[in-house]
Amino acid sequence: MAKTRTPARPRTRSTARTLTKAAAPRKRVARATTKTRRASKPRGKKYVFFFGRGTAEGDRTKRDLLGGKGAGLAEMTSAGLPVPPGFTVSTDVCTLFYTNGHKVPEHVEMEIETQLRRLERLSRLTLGSTTDPLLVSVRSGAKFSMPGMMDTILNLGLNDDAVEGLKRRTANGRFAFDSYRRFIQMFGNVVLDITKEAFEDELDAVKRARGIRLDTELNERDLSQVVVRYQGVIRRQSGRRFPQDPRTQLRMARDAVFRSWHNPRAIEYRRIYDIPDEIGTAVNVQAMVFGNSGDRSATGVGFTRNPATGTREFYGEFLVNAQGEDVVAGIRTPQPIRELEHVMPKAYRQLRRITSRLERHYKDVQDFEFTIQDEELFMLQTRSGKRTGHAAVVIATDMVAERLITQSEAVLLVDPDSLSQLLSPVFDPAAWRSFPVVTQGLPASPGAASGQVVFTADDAVSWSHKGKPVILVRKETVPDDIHGMHVASGVLTATGGMTSHAAVVGRQMGKPSVVGAGELWVDAGARTVTVNTQVVREGDFISFDGLTGEVKLGQVDTKPSEILQVLSGELKPKRSEIYQRFSKLLSWADRFRTLGIRANADLPEQAETAYEFGARGIGLCRTEHMFFGEGRLPIMQRMILSETERDRRAALNRLLPLQREDFYGIFKAMHGEPVTIRLVDPPLHEFLPKREELMVEVALLEAGVGKRSTLVKKRALLRRIEQLHEFNPMMGHRGVRLAISYPEIAEMQTQAIIEAACLLAKEGQKVIPEIMIPLVGHVKEFSNQRTLVDRVAAEAMRAMGVKVKYLVGTMIEVPRGAMTADEIAREADFFSFGTNDLTQMAFGFSRDDAGKFLTTYRERRILDRDPFASIDVEGVGALVRLAADKGRAAHPGLKLGICGEHGGDPASIHFFSTVGLDYVSASPYRVPTARLAAAHAALRPEPQER
Ligand code: PEP
Ligand code: MG
Repeated sequence: MAKTRTPARPRTRSTARTLTKAAAPRKRVARATTKTRRASKPRGKKYVFFFGRGTAEGDRTKRDLLGGKGAGLAEMTSAGLPVPPGFTVSTDVCTLFYTNGHKVPEHVEMEIETQLRRLERLSRLTLGSTTDPLLVSVRSGAKFSMPGMMDTILNLGLNDDAVEGLKRRTANGRFAFDSYRRFIQMFGNVVLDITKEAFEDELDAVKRARGIRLDTELNERDLSQVVVRYQGVIRRQSGRRFPQDPRTQLRMARDAVFRSWHNPRAIEYRRIYDIPDEIGTAVNVQAMVFGNSGDRSATGVGFTRNPATGTREFYGEFLVNAQGEDVVAGIRTPQPIRELEHVMPKAYRQLRRITSRLERHYKDVQDFEFTIQDEELFMLQTRSGKRTGHAAVVIATDMVAERLITQSEAVLLVDPDSLSQLLSPVFDPAAWRSFPVVTQGLPASPGAASGQVVFTADDAVSWSHKGKPVILVRKETVPDDIHGMHVASGVLTATGGMTSHAAVVGRQMGKPSVVGAGELWVDAGARTVTVNTQVVREGDFISFDGLTGEVKLGQVDTKPSEILQVLSGELKPKRSEIYQRFSKLLSWADRFRTLGIRANADLPEQAETAYEFGARGIGLCRTEHMFFGEGRLPIMQRMILSETERDRRAALNRLLPLQREDFYGIFKAMHGEPVTIRLVDPPLHEFLPKREELMVEVALLEAGVGKRSTLVKKRALLRRIEQLHEFNPMMGHRGVRLAISYPEIAEMQTQAIIEAACLLAKEGQKVIPEIMIPLVGHVKEFSNQRTLVDRVAAEAMRAMGVKVKYLVGTMIEVPRGAMTADEIAREADFFSFGTNDLTQMAFGFSRDDAGKFLTTYRERRILDRDPFASIDVEGVGALVRLAADKGRAAHPGLKLGICGEHGGDPASIHFFSTVGLDYVSASPYRVPTARLAAAHAALRPEPQER
């Protein structure tokens, strides 16, 4: 087979040179750029950037303008790597295209024409030539990689004459017509919106007529017939002839790529990955090289390290005699890249050399695309490779050991969010794939969960006591489900958002949770959950992935992550390589971060886990969760139902030793680090049975079902519940308001805290209790409680015969509290921002119900992110900043922290770091993520790129 003529490339440059050594060509870039500007466009802004023959007008720093692909091509070209020449039409042109009524302005058209001529000169080929035709690819390329979301067109430039030119040049008519028919099909599909099937039908007709099955059996004549038929499809379906002018083809293809920025899958992808709509895509026009020109040609993709495990191995696949799309299309099974060593040893060795240079240059794993044309290698793309959390940690620690990167670079190489993958239980991937997805909810807490469906917390406990793995399925969870959540393998709810009870508690417990799976119809009475038409009964198996929100019916095996096995003592640290790497990376992160990291924990064992994960302090202990512990709820209820203060105090006296014991445990688990304990916060009715359920019970008893004495008791209970009933409890009698009405509750809690601290002080352990008043909106609310706390603390210390230092502070979670932070700060020792309630009240969105419309808000791009998951910087964030500034101005040295769910979100942590908070507090299983995110914020104060 005759050789296809390849685009000219510099003969003098050795591709084995390292990118660093390639500094000289890069200097030449600068000169070449100036020259080009002088020759073609002396003034004005530049929109089209050339690359080829060892020089390029762009480089890696111009990803905003050139997109990731364009920047990579420019950088590789400057380094003397074998890259087919071409040019990048910048992302600015995409913006112009949309502001200019879907048209590229004339001055940019002229710039493109200039660069096109330059490409023809450099490659010594001409678009549409009947002897030496230039063929180009037209590809999208945004700043952030959006794999497969936008469109690509290959072999552009072919027409009825140029195909003859290609045939002549390559002495391969079959190849020429095959390239032409592929081009027409891609053009028809991408540019003219004609279905692929319309073309496939014609191809099948020709195969049928010839009595053959495989495309590869088609000869040149068959393929030229296919071309005629394809042109017929275009004529019939679009009402116009297939454009023969290559420049028209190029304009139309370029505009189609710009349009593909707004196709539904690209829009959805950007929504999921928080990529802004405004940034647009670049378009790369590049001379074609052909991996399909025979058996000495190939095309492939690969990674410099294994992206799933992080192992240092050359990883990827290739196809002989194929074009790029064939590798991903799955029609033929590609070969593992190692086999290339035997098929084309020279090209393989060169590829190894080049890709390891790229990895050294970019100091990161590279995901690359290449084509081999007649055993000559060409690089088509390089970018940093996406990887699992596990691989990220392995790669970062390996690269430090290899002296490729520094410790701070390693810290920045790992996405903080990806660490949660290392802590989650895991499914066997093959088993998981074999089950179909039945519905999807919000991925509230990562992890793999599989078990039998139960509908009440009590059932969860009794079933799990019998050794059964259970999934607690609820319409929504409430605080008294906590014991059921504790024993369940996972929690699945039909309603609720990312800060709903199930989500908050799920994350805090490290329990896999999917919430707000709206397609679930939970009928707890009938003990069924219906998803679409399928009915799942109590005891049936269900599985879900808390990282993706996918739910499946059936049992899929899971196991705890290796890191948790080490922390629970099941596995020795030295026997777990991933544990060692994980803790090494985090110890580096700790060296760079300036923010303190605390945890939200309510029980001693949660505090212990948090400490193991590296939390140095508790930022929020929600004391009310302790009231749901075994044997405590009835006492709490008795306290609430008491008619007199005396009775209330009697019930509280019974709770006192239990609370003291909890606090003692938490202080001990924190080894002398500060512990912020919040006095009771939720409305009291949350501790009582549901009003509606009780009404039904009373009605039944009144109808004669059951005992008379029970009726009397239940009526009294209902009366009290009616008294406590509120239409809007979240804005109701809760937080500090409750403690002002019933000071004895705050007194009991203060006494328990101080006594526990005194006990430990007597044992010689350091303790730093920080007593926190919730929901303060007015300084006088705070002063009222501060007086109470100081009085009770003094009495308790006197009685215990020992003094401990303690602080009294407040949560800033009511907008009025933020606005008057200076007044409050004069009286308070610390602030902790309760960004859950602050978001609720600043937006006026109910944190329990907003899930319903927030999805629509995100779809319509009214909000880019769920403000309960990631802080709304402009609104809620502004309140945080204002309160922090006012607070510190009025009280220099005021301690500032945040304990809302945002304390575990990397983007929010970045923001809190800019505000200058002292610490963030996250749920225990988010602590590693918070440590790493805090280091990122310190090392890279500007907002981070994806
Ligand atoms: C908050 O409002 O941010 C907070 C931490 O308190 P809770 O979630 O318990 O209301
Ligand atoms: Mg709150």
